[in-house]
Amino acid sequence: MGNIIDGKVIAEKIRDEVKKEIEQLKSKGIIPKLVAVSVGENPASIVYMNQQKKNCEKIGINYEIMSLSDSIDEKGIIENIEKLNENPDVTGIILQLPLPKGVDTRKVQSKIAPNKDVEGVNPVNMGWIVYGRPVVGPCTALAVKEIIEYLGINLYGKEVVMVGHSDIVGKPVGLLLVDKFATITICHIGTSDAGRLQDHVKRAEILIVAVGKANLIPGDWIKEGAIVIDVGINRVGDKIVGDVEFEKAKEKASWITPVPGGVGPITTAILLRNTVLLVKLQKGV
Ligand code: NAP
Repeated sequence: MGNIIDGKVIAEKIRDEVKKEIEQLKSKGIIPKLVAVSVGENPASIVYMNQQKKNCEKIGINYEIMSLSDSIDEKGIIENIEKLNENPDVTGIILQLPLPKGVDTRKVQSKIAPNKDVEGVNPVNMGWIVYGRPVVGPCTALAVKEIIEYLGINLYGKEVVMVGHSDIVGKPVGLLLVDKFATITICHIGTSDAGRLQDHVKRAEILIVAVGKANLIPGDWIKEGAIVIDVGINRVGDKIVGDVEFEKAKEKASWITPVPGGVGPITTAILLRNTVLLVKLQKGV
């Protein structure tokens, strides 16, 4: 039966390291400051930002919310981001999604200064991942890598199957792990539509799923002894579940992340680590 990967423990370890670094920065008179840019009223986003604010302030990162009206256009959002880029007191910028209809999200993200891009979504930071020299990357993709490292898994030659090919999870995970010489298969809707998802999942020694469909992966598809990292977050009734049928998958996996309490808390901690990393780069310390 699978061991449960406790995301909170891994997140705590990261936060402790970040906290030490922040104390060192403070002794040099440097205080990191994150600004979350939010466009329009989105209740889920407000809850998320308040949580982020609490997490940041707990370890000594200042956090501010810049609320922009949903009548603002793409140019207006970009102008505000450019002002934050130029403000030396602001060391990190988060762009809350979704943006209003008609706004090109990727274009706006590309305007965040790469050295303030704490979510790792600017094409420059994505590009460094392609080159195998990541500076900061998308937090969830880094969280997946962190779990594998925490478990002490040697990826060399391992069969890794990534289900989902989004820009912020599936694709960067593939690139990060291929650089450790894992053999990566990235599956997506085309794989499912071709009826081949099960075949790929069944041979995965490490299975990572980031789709957003509850129980997409039945437990009996899991290879005996596999490591299962479930990124998905789905609300089913009053419960939050992942993309993998957890109870059955747990019987076959050697390690498995729960949802909630797996990838999520680590993602949050990585944001703090990215923040400190970029402050150090900006200030040359
Ligand atoms: P996304 O951009 O919607 O990407 C979903 C991916 O799944 C796409 O590549 C999509 O392919 C693929 N897909 C859809 N249906 C499929 C199927 N039946 N079989 C195989 N692949 C299929 O989502 P995302 O931003 O990567 O997020 C994925 C999930 O992770 C969501 O539940 C999200 O809430 C969660 N998430 C969690 C965290 C965390 O910290 N725990 C962070 C980020 C996201 P097509 O594009 O071709 O349809």
